Amino acid sequence: MEVKAIKDTDLANNPVIAQMGLNNHEQVVFCNDNATGLKAIIAIHNTILGPSLGGTRMWAYNNEMEALNDVLRLSRGMTYKSSVAGLNLGGGKAVIIGDAKKVKSEALLRRFGKFVNSLGGKYITAEDVAMTSRDMEIIKMETDYVSGLPENMGGSGDPSPVTAYGVYVSMKASAREVWGSDSLNGKKILVQGIGHVGESLVGHLSKEGAKVYINDINEERLKAVADKYKAEVVKADGMFDLDIDVYAPCALGATVNDETLSRLKCKVICGAANNQLANEVIHGEAVGKQGILYAPDFVVNAGGIINVYYELEGYNSERALAHAEKIYDTTWNLFQMAKKEGIPTYMAANKLGEQRLEAIARINAVL
Ligand code: NAD
Repeated sequence: MEVKAIKDTDLANNPVIAQMGLNNHEQVVFCNDNATGLKAIIAIHNTILGPSLGGTRMWAYNNEMEALNDVLRLSRGMTYKSSVAGLNLGGGKAVIIGDAKKVKSEALLRRFGKFVNSLGGKYITAEDVAMTSRDMEIIKMETDYVSGLPENMGGSGDPSPVTAYGVYVSMKASAREVWGSDSLNGKKILVQGIGHVGESLVGHLSKEGAKVYINDINEERLKAVADKYKAEVVKADGMFDLDIDVYAPCALGATVNDETLSRLKCKVICGAANNQLANEVIHGEAVGKQGILYAPDFVVNAGGIINVYYELEGYNSERALAHAEKIYDTTWNLFQMAKKEGIPTYMAANKLGEQRLEAIARINAVL
């Protein structure tokens, strides 16, 4: 994909279209409505593979540039995620500027829905930070370009079980690469964050006979999950010093950083959280040098977008799960590519995404 370099000084004077050019964003839509207080940005990064799809995030950004940077970064990430997952979807994302607790209202969400609708399907929205399935129902009053709806509205419901299944098969592919067998039996695995995805992952791992350690800030959940799956609770303090085989981040981003890498003793990092590497380039290199196999997060956690994709086609959970199972092969293939080319795994994942985009772009060009 062509990446056009521009100077920082140019960017200061031309913060919008020039910045779009950095990663070749197709279209950015700025939305304002004084009556409802709506201030939003919809970013469409790339539609070569299909309509752009990505959630709407509501956040009290400090300023417009922060919101713009976030939506550009997130929409680009969606292009790569869908591309590597083999979906016919492009990358898009929306942000609504403001504190959801203070400014979110039915009118604001419906006005936002009208903006989404005005794009005629080029952007399809879904849930993200500070948005709920009820909010999606409200947006749906104004547009059909909404996905991730509750099951009682004909939607695909909670994507977490499919996401967790994708993480599980990806972890198996990682085990095969490191230990020559994809069995997780007897492996010591730390799952950080036992929310929707984390708990479901713990279920798969326990069933396979792994020794599971769990950590979360929610004490009640910790007790419930520990009892249900015979998992061992570990405190945040010292968690990264444990003698483990696999670290599965399923709570927050940026937990693979200078501090944790100086302590982690695992051989594999594979989990659901987005943006696990504090700095993609620095820590994406560092993991490999430390003898840790990093399964790139956006490949591993694609089950969520896969689930939503099948909602657009008339939801069928078996098809969604069957597609998520392919994450095993994708993970395996990218490890082989990384080895062959002598590049870090995060870079191999990006390359895989770009290769498919370029191949389909060529097909699209044929009359
Ligand atoms: P969730 O909110 O249900 O669970 C997150 C869990 O992490 C909660 O139990 C929370 O208490 C815990 N947590 C928060 N801060 C923590 C901390 N500092 N230390 C330890 N635990 C902490 O979220 P989820 O849907 O299970 O998603 C988990 C991660 O996976 C998120 O980063 C999410 O963006 C990502 N993800 C989820 C999906 C999906 O289908 N749900 C898809 C793709 C990516």
